[in-house]
Amino acid sequence: MATFKGFAMKKIGETGWVEKEVPKCGPMDAIIKPTCVSPCTSDIHTVWEGAIGERTDMILGHEAVGEVVEVGSLVTKFSPGDKVIVPAITPDWDDEAAQRGFPSQTTEPLGGWKFSNFKDGVFGERFHVNMADGNLAHLPEGLSDEGACMLVDMWSTGMMGSENADIPLGGTVLVIGIGAVGLSAIAGAKLLGASKIFAAGTRPISVKVAKEYGATDIINYKEGTIDEQVRDLTNGEGVDSVIIAGGNLENTWKEAISSAKAGGTVSNVNYLSGADNVFIPRVEWGCGMSNINIKNGLCPGGAVRMERLAALALVGRQDPELLVTHKFRGLEKIEDALYLMKEKPKDLIKPVVLLDLD
Ligand code: NDP
Ligand code: ZN
Repeated sequence: MATFKGFAMKKIGETGWVEKEVPKCGPMDAIIKPTCVSPCTSDIHTVWEGAIGERTDMILGHEAVGEVVEVGSLVTKFSPGDKVIVPAITPDWDDEAAQRGFPSQTTEPLGGWKFSNFKDGVFGERFHVNMADGNLAHLPEGLSDEGACMLVDMWSTGMMGSENADIPLGGTVLVIGIGAVGLSAIAGAKLLGASKIFAAGTRPISVKVAKEYGATDIINYKEGTIDEQVRDLTNGEGVDSVIIAGGNLENTWKEAISSAKAGGTVSNVNYLSGADNVFIPRVEWGCGMSNINIKNGLCPGGAVRMERLAALALVGRQDPELLVTHKFRGLEKIEDALYLMKEKPKDLIKPVVLLDLD
């Protein structure tokens, strides 16, 4: 195969199919053909909100499970034909930011995020993975393609949100937004020992999965401010940890800070777009002296992260497939799946596209 087809961002606000040369495989790299892909809300921010700036004919997508087609001469752990989990974030593990403990930020801020950011993503017949031994994980027996596809970004990001939230054992948590990322944050908060988990969102399918993943109380943000509802439910105390996985720049940060106890943590995983500034409410933040810490991060990637998340799924701690609400088959359906993600109908959490490519 000399060239391949992929579904691309043609420019801000415009998508379409492109034909490209199959990428070259460096000595440490791999070429993969996807067997399952899923669109991300981040693809929507990137194309229709121009959140990371202009991109031209860049193949979209960063959530995939696939089969190895080719490996470089220095790759020792993978061979053609292996089924692999491909993390959304594929760091350069020899970079100084990785050595400082921030592999998602290697080479530049957000630099571990390569697919559908500054190189072609996974929505095509082939894609390239850097540092294959450090960035791919073998797909274990017992985990489906679509289940594994929910680990690579949704579980990894959402659970990072809960890891960053400094949840005390038995502490209380608010998760703002219960799309696939917020739901994964709920799953993580439960695993990390939260007691009450308040979940803000309205889509009925998300509410159902939120309860299955561990939410104890659902907050409808359309029926009053989130912080007022949280204070009503906690005798005015607020919560130990807040995870932001949805919402907007007008209200959400005020509601998040106002929901946290003094000494609590606000952990953001939302991909912020729509305005240039984030406003922190001064008084609610204790005039800057409340000890409410604000943390954030980009999805953790790499092989070990994927292996650990797969291990959680395999022992039955949580079921990643609960996030999959729509299944498509065939390359051309990637377009439909992405537009469904843009429309966000009420019965949607995540669509996947299953592929049987040559
Ligand atoms: P969804 O759009 O599926 O979910 C968003 C959630 O936010 C929904 O539950 C929605 O409620 C809720 N919401 C909407 N408006 C408000 C509001 N005013 N107040 C409170 N909640 C509100 O998103 P995803 O779960 O797919 O993704 C969440 C975010 O995470 C996105 O910004 C995405 O780009 C980002 N992301 C970040 C990554 C990272 O590495 N940091 C990686 C991957 C994604 P309703 O139920 O009513 O629809
Ligand atoms: Zn994503």
